[in-house]
Amino acid sequence: MKRLNIGIDIDGTLTEPFYWLRRANDYFGTSVSENEIVDYDYHQPLGVSRQESDRFYDQYGELLHWEAKVRPGAQLVIRRLFKQHNIHFITARTEAMRQVSLEWLKQYDIPNDSLTLLGSTEKVATAKRLRCDWFIEDRYENAVALAASNVPVLLIDCSYNRKPLPDNVIRINSWSQVESYIDTTVSMGNWELAL
Ligand SMILES: [Mg+2]
Repeated sequence: MKRLNIGIDIDGTLTEPFYWLRRANDYFGTSVSENEIVDYDYHQPLGVSRQESDRFYDQYGELLHWEAKVRPGAQLVIRRLFKQHNIHFITARTEAMRQVSLEWLKQYDIPNDSLTLLGSTEKVATAKRLRCDWFIEDRYENAVALAASNVPVLLIDCSYNRKPLPDNVIRINSWSQVESYIDTTVSMGNWELAL
């Protein structure tokens, strides 16, 4: 059976998407709801400058990542996939967040073969280097860029990514769908047949 390389984003994909929102609302004195976050760059919906949102992240980022909740089903699906495939976490978090990210993964008992902290949203080069057969993501722009480089994407549905998708990006609603797409890819031998 082919051993696939599966690239997985962390924030909003492995974690629930809005775990940071309560603290952000407290910090900025706002009351923005989840449905109002229609852009991945959340400083705009919150009505604050990028510098202000960066300052908030500098102060609370580590705590937020530690408090993040895992998406339902993700642990079980990743543990099962890990037995047959390579699991690579690829995140835009900075290298400074390595320790908290590793401890969080350990706390939730989420196995993996590697963790790459890019400090940027540019994921294509890493996906290519790790020869990712699939990428699981929540950010629309990343999904489009990966798809354009022939890396098929499973895009977890969120309020901020509801835009038209290329053929090799599939919108999914749950981690159980991740497992079924990957299982089908393996049994068909080709991701295009899994669609
Ligand atoms: Mg993300």
